[in-house]
Amino acid sequence: REKRHLLHMNSDELFQRARQTIPGGVNSPVRAFRSVGGTPFFTESARGAILTTADGKDLIDFVCTWGPAIHGHNDPDIRAAVAEALDKGTSFGTPGPLEVEIAEAVVSRVDSVEKVRMCNSGTEATMSAIRLARGYTGRDKIVKFIGCYHGHVDSLLVQAGSGALTLGKPDSAGVPASFAAETLLCAYNNFEAITELFSKYGDQIAAIIVEPYPANCGLILPLEGYLAHLRKITQEHGSLLIFDEVMTGFRLAMGGVQEREGITPDLSAFGKVIGGGLPVGAFGGRAEIMDYLAPDGPVYQAGTLSGNPLAMAAGLAALKKLDSGVFQNLEAAGAKISEALRSEAKRQGIPLTINQAGSMFALFFNPDPVRSFDDVQKSDTERFSRFFHAAMKEGVYLPPSAYETCFLSTAHDEDTLDRAIESLVAALRTSA
Ligand code: PMP
Repeated sequence: REKRHLLHMNSDELFQRARQTIPGGVNSPVRAFRSVGGTPFFTESARGAILTTADGKDLIDFVCTWGPAIHGHNDPDIRAAVAEALDKGTSFGTPGPLEVEIAEAVVSRVDSVEKVRMCNSGTEATMSAIRLARGYTGRDKIVKFIGCYHGHVDSLLVQAGSGALTLGKPDSAGVPASFAAETLLCAYNNFEAITELFSKYGDQIAAIIVEPYPANCGLILPLEGYLAHLRKITQEHGSLLIFDEVMTGFRLAMGGVQEREGITPDLSAFGKVIGGGLPVGAFGGRAEIMDYLAPDGPVYQAGTLSGNPLAMAAGLAALKKLDSGVFQNLEAAGAKISEALRSEAKRQGIPLTINQAGSMFALFFNPDPVRSFDDVQKSDTERFSRFFHAAMKEGVYLPPSAYETCFLSTAHDEDTLDRAIESLVAALRTSA
């Protein structure tokens, strides 16, 4: 094997090398660019809104490390907080003061959360929330929505399925059909489908888990009253409502979608922003339910590195920098770029629908409104791939899949946004 120093290799050389020792050359599949074609670039460093690739190219980044970087990359305050914690040690395996501080920070910011447990990823958060819901209710079935992603939890890797009312079949090899059979699938934004599901299985359903704004199939916003309908139907049947706010928590408002929409879930899962760019997840909710967790209760959940001091320091620093002014600015930035692209697409006669909420927006090459997973699937994904590559040539990095959401950060200032819009307008033209 070539001995040349990895730091001196370009992206293509690194990818070749990576494929020899890492499955598919990546540590998380979507990074491999399979759905847009081509091979991924490697990032050498990142600062603010800019990624610098191993090829020495600067890209305006609309992925923001898939959500965490709400303050931009390599934020100086987060760096300083991590450095301060680093000075005291990297991991203790005992409780530490920063864990109390972040728990209080979460509880004071999210109304529905009275107690919270930290873990290491969004996947752990949803997995644990579901186990807790099952342990608390004594029921096994879970409802999930087609097109929602909650991490690579066995019983949640069940997505596709035709029709609104189907018993789950696993999406991934290695997930026993018997696990998936406990997962009931439903179409998001379809009032009747969930009502029917509950009239059939209501007394067996431990919980609904939902991305309140589904953001793993582009971005879908709830129809008027839909989340309230989920709240009501779960209450009527003694089931729990779990909001997966791994993407939206501390990003679309301090209290996430639940604050924006005025809905109180029983449990919530968090990740991404709450870790300030370090590996963190968390789940929390009503104290009475959270107290079912070990060591007080019968539901086991644990983690060697849970509450890690460096991760807690990063997360706390990220949370402390959020306030209503930040969310207002991000909302305005999201609206600005969406509006600019919509009107340019219209001018060029390109069928483009953009769904946007705060600092998240998704592009669908689709002439019609996108309100359901079926609508998402009617979008022109080949056109998205062409647009993605054209944007890269213009210096803008969009999510490498038509089913992902774009993220903004506070580092996407006026000047950066104007440059990005100019580049994306050019990319719309050249990819047409
Ligand atoms: N839930 C949602 C809504 C997510 O978007 C993701 C990841 N994109 C997860 C859970 C899983 O989080 P992680 O990748 O940190 O395990």
